[in-house]
Amino acid sequence: MSSYDVIIIGAGSVGVPTAMALAEKGVRTLVLDQNASPGQGENKHAIGGIRATHSSPGKILVALRSLEIFSSWEENTGEDIEWLRGGYLFPVYRKEEEDILKGILPIQKKYGLNIDYVGPEKIKKVLPGISEEGLRGGTFSPEDGSASPLLAINAFYRKAVSNGAEFRFGVHVEAISCKKGKVKGVMAGGDVYKAPVVVDAAGPFSAPVCNTAGVKIPVYSDSHEAAITEPVESFFACMVVDLRPGPGSKNFYFYQNKRGQVVFCITPDPPIIGTDKRETSVFLPQVSARMVSLLPRLKNLRVRRMWRGLYPMTPDGSPIVGWNREVDGLLHATGMCGQGFMLGPGVGELVMRMVVGETTENDNVILEEFSPYREFAGQEALK
Ligand SMILES: Cc1cc2nc3c(=O)[nH]c(=O)nc-3n(C[C@H](O)[C@H](O)[C@H](O)COP(=O)(O)OP(=O)(O)OC[C@H]3O[C@@H](n4cnc5c(N)ncnc54)[C@H](O)[C@@H]3O)c2cc1C
Repeated sequence: MSSYDVIIIGAGSVGVPTAMALAEKGVRTLVLDQNASPGQGENKHAIGGIRATHSSPGKILVALRSLEIFSSWEENTGEDIEWLRGGYLFPVYRKEEEDILKGILPIQKKYGLNIDYVGPEKIKKVLPGISEEGLRGGTFSPEDGSASPLLAINAFYRKAVSNGAEFRFGVHVEAISCKKGKVKGVMAGGDVYKAPVVVDAAGPFSAPVCNTAGVKIPVYSDSHEAAITEPVESFFACMVVDLRPGPGSKNFYFYQNKRGQVVFCITPDPPIIGTDKRETSVFLPQVSARMVSLLPRLKNLRVRRMWRGLYPMTPDGSPIVGWNREVDGLLHATGMCGQGFMLGPGVGELVMRMVVGETTENDNVILEEFSPYREFAGQEALK
């Protein structure tokens, strides 16, 4: 088989923009995916939220770059990915959430986020009809937004191909091949594909993929459900995140997309570990009760479709991006948890700089935070 500079395992939220960035730099790049087309793993399960409002420097820096890419895409390429700059709103009803959000404001501001803790009047303007009882205020970051994961990944895919990246679909990678501690390529479908660098962008399946090279990577999957309503006239533009726990759930979040459809998700508590993607009968009554109590005017909306997908989780809720120290040439870009769609383009450019040896000072901050060799002891506040 012909050889490449880099082989990426996975044409998902991370693999596709990584191929786009590498090929643009002239790196001969091959992407292999077991599915039939780009984004058919977890990318298509994302609801499209894109925020730089995180609680740690690395994620903020990566997401700020992603935001630039998403928000300027139509202007730069003429392609509509349904980007909508509606901001992220975290309304607050209890002191617990107020303390968490106020506690992370200094770091968010230090790294350049346009975000403030605002009072109830501002919240009511941003989300007309929000339940006022006990509303204390909340944070609002107007520059965050949303886009269609389906349109975005296909746009990135077309750009990657026009930049010169090669994609092969319907190809299951059986093993990363190594010799004397060095990556030689991958084995897939009885063929050997050669490259000195292999990027692990296999998302929830990173652990079994890396295992084939004798590498243990702490990525596991838990499942989350989402749903989308019929379209109605637009009446709010922000992503709303309610951090309060409820029975059987942690936070929930929703927004109205560019087509007028409300898209929503909830975080189950305890988490549902595993790869089961069958929809449940628990999700819809659970999440809709919470949404209608927060925003009563949602009560007449009809739900069109629901689905369940996987978060590629890590023990501390932060991504894993970095060179493997045991197997030379193996680069991890995985463990994106619930944020792979929004982090993908920023991570893609970071991986490109790592491959071509052009990392920056900010990259060092990011890479320390995302290191595969960190302790995994902390917990990201907004994971
Ligand atoms: C309900 C829900 C809502 C979400 N909402 C958001 C959101 O609003 N914003 C956000 O940023 N994120 C969101 N996410 C999270 C997001 O979907 C994931 O973090 C992201 O898709 C992970 O990207 P990835 O590239 O790591 O994995 P994927 O996109 O799954 O890509 C991995 C690819 O690797 C391929 N692969 C794996 N193993 C092999 C192999 N052995 N051989 C060949 N190919 C292989 C798979 O087929 C897949 O295509 C949501 C997730 C869910 C489930």
